[in-house]
Amino acid sequence: MIKVPPTRYVELCCRQTTLISRSNDEPDIEPWSRSGKENGALSAIGRNIKYIGALLVTLCVLACAPQQPPQPVQAPDLSPEELHHQSLVIDTHADTLQRVLISGVDIGQRLDSGHIDFLRMREGGLDAEFFAAWVDSHYTGPFATKRALQLIDAFYESVEGHPDQVEPALNAADIERLHKEGKVAALLGIEGGHAIDGDLRLLRVFHRLGVRYMTLTWSNTNAFADSSGDQARWNGLNELGEQVVREMNRIGMIVDISHVSDETFWDTLRITTKPVIASHSSARALQNVPRNMTDEMLKAVAKNGGVVGINFYSAFLSADYARRSSEAGRSWESVESLMKNFGGDLDRVAAERYRLFEKPSTLEPPPFELLIDHIDHVVKVAGVDHVGLGSDFDGVESLPAGIRDVRDLPKITSALLSRGYSPGDVTKILGGNFLRVLRMVTGG
Ligand SMILES: [Zn+2]
Repeated sequence: MIKVPPTRYVELCCRQTTLISRSNDEPDIEPWSRSGKENGALSAIGRNIKYIGALLVTLCVLACAPQQPPQPVQAPDLSPEELHHQSLVIDTHADTLQRVLISGVDIGQRLDSGHIDFLRMREGGLDAEFFAAWVDSHYTGPFATKRALQLIDAFYESVEGHPDQVEPALNAADIERLHKEGKVAALLGIEGGHAIDGDLRLLRVFHRLGVRYMTLTWSNTNAFADSSGDQARWNGLNELGEQVVREMNRIGMIVDISHVSDETFWDTLRITTKPVIASHSSARALQNVPRNMTDEMLKAVAKNGGVVGINFYSAFLSADYARRSSEAGRSWESVESLMKNFGGDLDRVAAERYRLFEKPSTLEPPPFELLIDHIDHVVKVAGVDHVGLGSDFDGVESLPAGIRDVRDLPKITSALLSRGYSPGDVTKILGGNFLRVLRMVTGG
């Protein structure tokens, strides 16, 4: 789920260079193999002595060298499309459950709107999706918990209705098993720590219901953590927030630092004993909004062993798009005025806010390559083991050019290969890195 970013932008620093470049330097040529002109000072005798010496050395090496183990047979080169569909592809954030709850869509059917359904996931080679139970900020106290529970019910309703296509997954082993069976793995996350109403018992209940990550905040500061989209109240995590992080570590729920304030991020990284994720955040060096991560944060996540899932939202990728969007006056009506208009009916306010971002933007999207630039940047700063995909599908009104919906994910694989990434590194980015974190945190 996104919130229109504040009007604090910098010029886009677009890296056009390829991260991994091959060296064109030829190996040094031995002096005696050079042309006569170059070796004019050498006598014919000298050349012959050197030639015979080199021949003897070569024969000795061939005779004395231990037997080399047979080289593994090289797999035939895969096309980008084949590599994509053979890889285990995981996306760490989609807001599709809103559609199910508010509009009553069945994501087991092919839909002609939105970004995700199970059939289009298969076409896009997406093997596992984290569906977020996003709790809007006007749900407070026990109403926030109730909203999260309703979204979790929408999740199970969607998944259990199509056992031939999809199954719920709780850990890395489940994802791998379902991948082999050719089924989609559906996972649950909570977006907005206010869903636990400050109660560790509710946190544990959510875990028992299958929730495997929680963003400590959404765009609202809550009872235990400050958000990047709100006023600071605790200067990061308060004491309860520290307990929440420790309890998440203990029970095996991934701590998600997308949406939190910088201070909350640093407090969390100080306390956590397990790898964290940013389920849907991009690079602040390329688009300077508080929802994106600074290079120092990216390095800290790398040190922690975590993963940053790159958010596809146009305004988090492109300063130019964000500026145009702001100028076009696209913004959300305030919660306060909607609450007044709808007589305090929380669910009607949520439905109205949902309708605003569900409508696709008519603005020209940023170029597709900018999405790859963000991936490339995080690889450069944090390393290739700490990057993943965090689309924010069904939670944003604009995606980069060429990304209609989940069906276009193979374009990312193709683009990474074109930039010189090895197939092994591409599979890490597509899902391997996140799978590592999930296994470490859940133990399975
Ligand atoms: Zn979000």
